[in-house]
Amino acid sequence: MSCSIKKDYNIKLQSKIDDYLTPDYVFIPYNSNVKLKVNNNDYIYKNMHILDYEDKKIFSSVSGKFVGTKKMMVENGKILNCLVIENDFKEKLQRRSGVKKDINAYSVDKVLEIINNYGIYEEKNNVSEILKKHIGEEVLIINTIESEPYIASELFLTSKYIYEILETLDAIMQIFHFKKCMFIIKNNANEIITKSIDYIGTFPNIDLKLVEDIYPIDNYAILKNYLKLKKGCVLKSSTIYEIYLALKRSLSATEKLITISGDGIKNPKVVNAKIGSSIKNIINDLIKIKDEDNLIFIANGLLSGNEIDINSLIVTPLLNGIIIKKKEKIMSTECIKCGQCYFNCPVKINPVLLLNNKKTDISKCLHCGLCSYICPAHINLNKYLEKSEKE
Ligand code: SF4
Ligand code: SF4
Repeated sequence: MSCSIKKDYNIKLQSKIDDYLTPDYVFIPYNSNVKLKVNNNDYIYKNMHILDYEDKKIFSSVSGKFVGTKKMMVENGKILNCLVIENDFKEKLQRRSGVKKDINAYSVDKVLEIINNYGIYEEKNNVSEILKKHIGEEVLIINTIESEPYIASELFLTSKYIYEILETLDAIMQIFHFKKCMFIIKNNANEIITKSIDYIGTFPNIDLKLVEDIYPIDNYAILKNYLKLKKGCVLKSSTIYEIYLALKRSLSATEKLITISGDGIKNPKVVNAKIGSSIKNIINDLIKIKDEDNLIFIANGLLSGNEIDINSLIVTPLLNGIIIKKKEKIMSTECIKCGQCYFNCPVKINPVLLLNNKKTDISKCLHCGLCSYICPAHINLNKYLEKSEKE
């Protein structure tokens, strides 16, 4: 079971994307075991491979000087060491590679090698491994959805780069022998539906598929279930855009679309920011706050996100949005045994058992936050799920 989330229609994103592409400094997180590929005071080129973080290759989003390290916060609330690069605003590349005309002519091995070289991941999954696993399958499913209310970074990215995404999809289908492609869009995303219809006609193997705006349909297992598909390779449209940059332009992604929204601000919007920028600076420069003293900040969405201190928060590839919300005093009461948490849970976990100190298997929990959100007694069931996971 998934469910549709009531939205506050006063919170409306402006249709234009704002840029935040000239931060004074960018912060690139790394873990303690990492071997840096650069030294203090080195000149750093934009797109230079500067370190490996959790097996991923990390590239610089600006050119400038490596001026030291600083502890900053990432989207899940962890404080990590970050390499600090002082931007010289020259966007200087080590080498210019031009634009590859015919990406359809690449072999499977070459595409996998390029994807690996550019460190393209979806969450913790290496995209070259995902493609290798699904080669020759019937369907490639492209997900443009974020089902969290008020977050629309994926949708705006798809709209901004629709042609580049479709062109790359066409090549991937041919190279990896997928028979058809489902391009998934929410049925209320009118602007992008119209735009996709305009372009998609040129790509006969790519079909537009509209789905309901229910939560958490962006989860791949839930999405496949909804589409009644047992098999199929699912990738985000933003991943396809990263593959486009790597295959066609020999570049890594240096920018990230972030939605900044919520009832605590006057101008909800999507911002195209340099990866590694300070969120505090973005908010100071671009966002009109309603009441500074009375706000909470939630990274990556109301239902599944974490309340976070934005003072040292940075833009990472895994940060999709910040909800800035008026603080509310909501008191929880006793469980009224309504069963809504169990009924609405997409993987049929019963969190009430945890409330009553009973054990239940939560290994399939998606951490979607729906049970807490739906609970009429305002019980923070997430807290019980986290506690049980730690035990
Ligand atoms: S138990 Fe887990 S999967 Fe089920 S609604 Fe709660 S957070 Fe989501
Ligand atoms: S939704 Fe809340 S009140 Fe209802 S059964 Fe679950 S925990 Fe109890």
